[in-house]
Amino acid sequence: MQYRTLGKTGLRVSMLGYGASPLGGVFAPIDQDAGIRAVRTALDLGVNIIDVSPYYGATVAETVLGRALHGIDRDSYILATKVGRYGEDDFDFSAARVVASVEESLARLGTDHLDIIQCHDIEFGDLGQVAAEALPALRRLQEEGKVRFVGITGYPLEALTHVAAEAPVDTVLSYCRYTLLDRALLEAVPHFAARGTAVMNASPLGMGLLSQRGAPPWHPAPAAVREASAAAARLCADRGTDIAQVAVRFAAEPSAFATTFVGSASPGNMARNVRWALEPTDPELLVDIEKVLAPVLGYAWPSGRPEN
Ligand code: NAD
Repeated sequence: MQYRTLGKTGLRVSMLGYGASPLGGVFAPIDQDAGIRAVRTALDLGVNIIDVSPYYGATVAETVLGRALHGIDRDSYILATKVGRYGEDDFDFSAARVVASVEESLARLGTDHLDIIQCHDIEFGDLGQVAAEALPALRRLQEEGKVRFVGITGYPLEALTHVAAEAPVDTVLSYCRYTLLDRALLEAVPHFAARGTAVMNASPLGMGLLSQRGAPPWHPAPAAVREASAAAARLCADRGTDIAQVAVRFAAEPSAFATTFVGSASPGNMARNVRWALEPTDPELLVDIEKVLAPVLGYAWPSGRPEN
């Protein structure tokens, strides 16, 4: 494993992080014991940063993750969870709710502190409230020692840059914005770095688009993106490669990202992901994949409130 510094936090984090949303059955029904083994496999292979949220599986992912981490030295991993999103359309960035949410997450995760607490999918909230109410409430929890660092997450980079400029944040996480299909997050890094905010990348497989199985039915990508992704997956298969391998390596490679979170509830896939993150891709294959994806490169779907 390779490690990078998480901005001004000084934390050293693995270049590939464990994304726990599949533990909530977000992509497919899960076998909890396999999910727990997937977490432990990741840790055994040097992954030391884990991202979860009360939203994933309506608290199930946090509960399963808490079981997976039980008995493991608390100082051996960096734990990030979130506040503010609880359901498809259930958002609450009020100070009272985010403080209560941290307590609930601590109980489910079986710990007395969180390393990173993030406002989840801020583009669905009132950005003014996120900056003026939720983040200051989380800073007070930081003073109490319940959380070590504070961040924001979301899909549209405009909402993230806006809030990061209004209220200092230690970390920002965006997903599907630096993959074989989109490069926008890398271009946004200087904006965040200038404010001392570390950038975390997520969803190297584009939430399943860039895998042999393809995206789940709820995925927001339009047909053209799904079809181009499927064509790229076939191209890789014809060359004897899994597109997921190319996708993981591509997203995790830039050192401008402290880490890239990949999600899996399968120990085998997690072991492959770690190996793939470290293995260079055949440059000719990459050029051919990029040709197939060129017509949809940079497509970004709408997400959040129209005013954000
Ligand atoms: P991803 O791109 O990591 O894809 C996950 C999907 O790919 C799952 O279906 C998984 O089973 C499959 N997969 C994983 N490894 C595979 C392999 N080796 N071969 C084939 N298929 C494989 O998407 P994700 O899980 O949504 O994102 C990763 C993590 O990033 C999440 O779990 C979450 O922690 C974080 N995230 C955060 C936000 C947010 O804060 N708004 C949004 C998206 C993701």
